[in-house]
Amino acid sequence: MADRAAEIAANLAAVNARISAACAAVGRDAAEVTLVAVTKFHPASDVLHLLRLGHRVFGENRDQEASAKAAEVAAKLADTASDPAPEWHFIGQLQTNKVKSVVSYADVVESVDRLALVTALDRAAVRAERKLRAFVQVNLDPDAERDGSGRGGAHPDEVLEIAAAVAGSDALSLGGLMAVAPLGVPPEPAFARLATLAAQLRGIHADAVSLSAGMSGDLEAAIAAGATHVRIGTALLGGRPPLR
Ligand SMILES: *Cc1c(COP(=O)(O)O)cnc(C)c1O
Repeated sequence: MADRAAEIAANLAAVNARISAACAAVGRDAAEVTLVAVTKFHPASDVLHLLRLGHRVFGENRDQEASAKAAEVAAKLADTASDPAPEWHFIGQLQTNKVKSVVSYADVVESVDRLALVTALDRAAVRAERKLRAFVQVNLDPDAERDGSGRGGAHPDEVLEIAAAVAGSDALSLGGLMAVAPLGVPPEPAFARLATLAAQLRGIHADAVSLSAGMSGDLEAAIAAGATHVRIGTALLGGRPPLR
């Protein structure tokens, strides 16, 4: 337990150093970049370690795992009453039959990729009397064969329509865009296309300034392209089984 805490502390420091260096390299302020600690496959105890280190923002990609973990963390926090509350970001493909559960713990849904999901999330959030921030997930490789890797996202041509639906909803606010770089190719061209789309979005929705891009392997390229959120799992918490 103490070893795990020390390991996570060292990893967190290293990731924060990478973020600072990446910002410095392109003249950005590191305070503009939020680290989303992706805790999928890792236990609630890791979330608690990160909370004790002062980290607050977490990402999960599957409702079943996320809801159980969020509940476990909340119960532990209620016992100790010392740690700050976490902010949960849902970052995975989301079926409409899961939205009721997701809105019960998520503060941000980064993976909004279709109009039907906007409608379902809004309805569930209104019912639960919750406000949610939503990012529209963009598919940066829309012509690629779907390979089941779950990268997902809306076709770039559909993004503005989905964003307008979020902005016009009752309980969702439009945060910005999210994307995962295509596998097996350098991320820079895809992140450049994402940055162009993000600028277009801000031209219409001035408050939609968030851009979630970058993972353990490509956070520097994402920050160079303007990312405001980087979603980091492996570099913080170590490996996971390859197929999730
Ligand atoms: C798992 C996951 C991440 C984190 O990836 P790492 O390479 O482990 O940092 C980021 N974004 C999404 C959408 C994920 O599913």
